[in-house]
Amino acid sequence: MDFKEFELIYKDNRCEIKDKQKIESKLKEIVGENNISTNDVDILAYSKDSTLIGMNWTIQGKIAGLPDFITWPETVEQISEILKLANKEKIPIIPFGEGSGVVGGAIAIYGGIIIDMKKFNKILKINDKNLTVTAQTGINGMNLERILNSKGYTTGHIPQSLYISSLGGWIAHRAAGQFSTKYGKIEDIVLGMEVVLPQGEIINFKTIARASTGPQLDKLFIGGEGTLGIVTKATLKIWPYPAKRTLISYVFPSIEDSFEAIRQILREQIYPAVVRIYDQFETMRHFPDIDKAKDKVMVVFICEGNSKLVDLEESITREKSEKNSGVDCGEHPVEHWLESRFRITETSSMPPYKIVFDTIEVASLWENASDIYHSVLKSMKQLQGVIMITAHVSHFYPNGVGIYFSFGGVPTKEQSDLEFYQKCWNTVVKAVLDAGGSIAHHHGIGINRAHWMESEWGTSMNTLKEIKKLLDPNDILNPGKVYVDTWKGGEK
Ligand SMILES: Cc1cc2nc3c(=O)[nH]c(=O)nc-3n(C[C@H](O)[C@H](O)[C@H](O)COP(=O)(O)OP(=O)(O)OC[C@H]3O[C@@H](n4cnc5c(N)ncnc54)[C@H](O)[C@@H]3O)c2cc1C
Repeated sequence: MDFKEFELIYKDNRCEIKDKQKIESKLKEIVGENNISTNDVDILAYSKDSTLIGMNWTIQGKIAGLPDFITWPETVEQISEILKLANKEKIPIIPFGEGSGVVGGAIAIYGGIIIDMKKFNKILKINDKNLTVTAQTGINGMNLERILNSKGYTTGHIPQSLYISSLGGWIAHRAAGQFSTKYGKIEDIVLGMEVVLPQGEIINFKTIARASTGPQLDKLFIGGEGTLGIVTKATLKIWPYPAKRTLISYVFPSIEDSFEAIRQILREQIYPAVVRIYDQFETMRHFPDIDKAKDKVMVVFICEGNSKLVDLEESITREKSEKNSGVDCGEHPVEHWLESRFRITETSSMPPYKIVFDTIEVASLWENASDIYHSVLKSMKQLQGVIMITAHVSHFYPNGVGIYFSFGGVPTKEQSDLEFYQKCWNTVVKAVLDAGGSIAHHHGIGINRAHWMESEWGTSMNTLKEIKKLLDPNDILNPGKVYVDTWKGGEK
C-alpha cells in the first residue's frame, strides 16, 4: 500500500533510514524472522494509540504516525540488542504496550522501530508471604487480574482500560484504577522493577517493602513514558481478595457538599475502595431514572475488605455523607456503575457526527478542587463550538483529588478538528494551572501535554532534560514525548 495517499498527521523530521533492508535483516538476527514485520497491515495497526481525536482522523482517512518496523522481542537481551542497534543507526524506538494510551505516547511520530511488549506476558511468581506478584510488563491487565483472582488475590488496580492495557503501560503513565482510593495508584503498588536503559544496559531495582539506600532512583522510571527506559519486569503488591463488599450511594445538593463529605471521611483514615462523584450533568446522563438524583450530585461508594473493617467504613461513610446533606440512594446506582464500568461506546459514537470529544484528568489539593471544577466549566462554556463540558471525580486522597473532565464540540468552519481540539485543551489546562492544579492525574503527558511541562514543572524541567541527555544521548527512546524536543536524527 502507498501510504502517501493518506494524510500523515505527524510528518515533520521523520528519521531517514537509508538502508531499510540492512536494518530489517539485523532486526531479524536479533528477534528472529517471526518477530518482526514491515507488512502494511502491521504498520497501519501500529500507526496510532487510543488518543480520542485519532478516531476522527481514522474516519477522515488520516494516519497519526507511521513506524518503519514492528518487533515483538521475547527476551530482555533482545530488547537490549535492539536498543544498541538503534543507537548505532540513530533510529527512534517506541515501546508499545496495548496502545490504550490517550495522549499519543505510543505513536511513532518520527517513524522508527516499535517494540511491542506483548510477548512479555508471563506471571513469574506469586509470593503469599510477602504479598507480591512478579510479572513481565507486556501482560494484559485483565489476564493478570483474572489469574490473581483465581488464586484468591487482587492487585486492586482496575483501570477502566483493564481489558485493553498492559502492566508496562500503567507504569509508564502512572496509571490509576477505579479502586485507587483504597489501593493507591500504580506508583503506590510497584515494589521492584527490571529496566533496559536507552543504550541497552539492563538494570534491576531490588524488591523491598521499604529501604533507606539513597534516592529512590526507581521512581524515575514510573511515569518515564518509555523515554528513559523500557520496563521489562515488575513486582507489585497484591491483597487477599476482599471478603466483603458494601455498595452505598448518596445524592448531594452540590459538588461542594460531596467534596466536604469525602474530605471528612478520608480525614478519619477511612478509605472506601471506590468513591465517584458525578457532577449534576453527569448525574443526569448516568442516572436519569432515579428521581431523587434530579438536579443533584450522585456519589457512589464501595467499601471492601475485612468484614469488620467494611462495617466500620460503611458507618463512617454514611455518618459523614448525612452530615453534609447527603440523601441515601441505596445500592442500585452502584450496581449500575459496576455493570457498566467497562462500557466505552460513548466515546466512539461521537466522531461519526463530526464531534470532537476528549477527556482531561487533572489533580488538585482539596483547597483548590472546587475552584478548578468551576473555572474549567466556566472557561469551556465560553469557547465557541463547545457543546458539552462535564466532570466526575473518582480518585481521592486525604490531601486532594483527581478530577476528570469530558468535553465535546464541533469546530467552527474556519477551524480544523485539531485546532479546535487544541483550543479546548489549552482552555482547560490554563484554567487548571491558574487555579493551582496539576495538568495530569493518570493519563500521562505523551505528545498532548508536553508543551505545558515547563509551566507544570518550572525550573525542575531542566534537571529532567539533563537526566534524559545523560541516559539517552542520541535521543532514540520515544523522542518527542514528555519533553518538547524535536527529533534531530539522533543529534543533540
Ligand atoms: C477506554 C479507556 C479507558 C481508560 N481508563 C483508564 C483508567 O481508568 N486509568 C488510567 O490510568 N488510564 C486509563 N486509560 C488510559 C490508558 O489505558 C493508560 O494510559 C494505560 O496505562 C496505557 O497502557 P498501554 O499498555 O495501553 O500503553 P500504550 O498505550 O501502549 O503506551 C503508553 C505509553 O507507555 C509506554 N510504554 C508501554 N509499555 C512500556 C514499557 N514496558 N516500558 C516503558 N514504557 C512503556 C509507551 O511508549 C507509551 O509512551 C484509558 C484508556 C481508554 C482508551
